[in-house]
Amino acid sequence: MLTCNSLMPGAFLSALLTAPFLRPDGLEARLSRLVEAQIGEAWQIRWFDAGRSALGALLDAYRIGPGDDVIVPAYTCVVVPNQIAARGARIVFCDVQESTLSYDWEALSRAMTPATRAVIVPHNFGMVSRVPDAVRARYPGVRFLDDAAHGLGSLDNRGRWLGTGHDGAFFSFEYSKNLTGGVGGLALLPASMSFAGMPVERVSRFGQWRLAVTLAGHLLSIRTALAGRAWMALARRTGLIYRSGDDEVRDGAVHAPKRLATLSAALILPQLRRLAAIREAKAVLADRYRNALADLPGVTVWEAGPDVHWVRYPFRLAAARGDKMAMARRLADASGLPVGIWFDDPIHPRGSFRHGYMPGDCPEGERLAAEVFNLPVNIALAGDGGLDDKLGRLRTAIGELAW
Ligand SMILES: *Cc1c(COP(=O)(O)O)cnc(C)c1O
Repeated sequence: MLTCNSLMPGAFLSALLTAPFLRPDGLEARLSRLVEAQIGEAWQIRWFDAGRSALGALLDAYRIGPGDDVIVPAYTCVVVPNQIAARGARIVFCDVQESTLSYDWEALSRAMTPATRAVIVPHNFGMVSRVPDAVRARYPGVRFLDDAAHGLGSLDNRGRWLGTGHDGAFFSFEYSKNLTGGVGGLALLPASMSFAGMPVERVSRFGQWRLAVTLAGHLLSIRTALAGRAWMALARRTGLIYRSGDDEVRDGAVHAPKRLATLSAALILPQLRRLAAIREAKAVLADRYRNALADLPGVTVWEAGPDVHWVRYPFRLAAARGDKMAMARRLADASGLPVGIWFDDPIHPRGSFRHGYMPGDCPEGERLAAEVFNLPVNIALAGDGGLDDKLGRLRTAIGELAW
């Protein structure tokens, strides 16, 4: 897994050295000003330790609780429904469609009832998805909240930031997301609303140490796989990896929200400043992927303009049956590219808490979870001279699969 999509080692070192001397409140204010310059003053901006905490804050702002239904795509990450269940609301899964990897709008219309209070709108891989006006008009009281965890800085067809088209949005700065904070989250809420309260505590000093150790391992892995593996093994053994709790994945436990780590803020700041250039470099990379795979039989790729800030680039293998992880490894070994498996289950990752989802509830979500793979969209790859070779080997390996 290739992470740190937008983080250069120099920027990491510089954040590491300066963060201890910076005031987190001041850093947050600078981050907020950068975001506000993009989205205007119609939105309130709040920073958290994770995207899931930002989602929780949105749900609280709209007072989602017992008796409310919240619709969630059956092609998502378990930490999303976890936040809803923790508030006593009922989770209703709704199927997705291939063309956008977002809702099947007909299915969404059918799923909405007078009990529906909110709909989590997916923007998978960074592609902007807009709820049709006709769907919004059916139940005007329903709040549409953007899960923008994959698309910080993606623009819609009118040049507006993803997350500013509906009733609120959350973003993530986790290791594998568009901009790298190690962890981190951002919530947007219309200026007319108010956040119901903010966590007081920030990520602890020890937490930040673990964050730094983990990030160093990830960055090392990009340049020297072997050294990266050794570093991560050592970090794991000494308990210095910063990651989601097993109870969140396995039991659906809710994450205790905190404020953004100072280190994360210091990491995000320079990336946010360079956002337009970063997005552009990644769009070029995604275009190379698309061109390499588009004409292969049995392969579906997604098209999008230069305005998508891809988190990874998806491709669908029509006949990918059986062990998805094994298939990804086979393609990765053949090509030298770290082929990813997001999402491998309607409620990713496979084996996580299912919140009442039953096999067969959302058939297209299940098919996509079985057949969609992805390629890394990382600025370190933009200058990889061997990329065309690797893509050629990936083409050959896909061509050799029996359809
Ligand atoms: C990563 C992710 C989240 C949660 O973000 P965290 O910062 O890890 O809490 C939510 N939704 C999707 C689709 C994600 O990929």
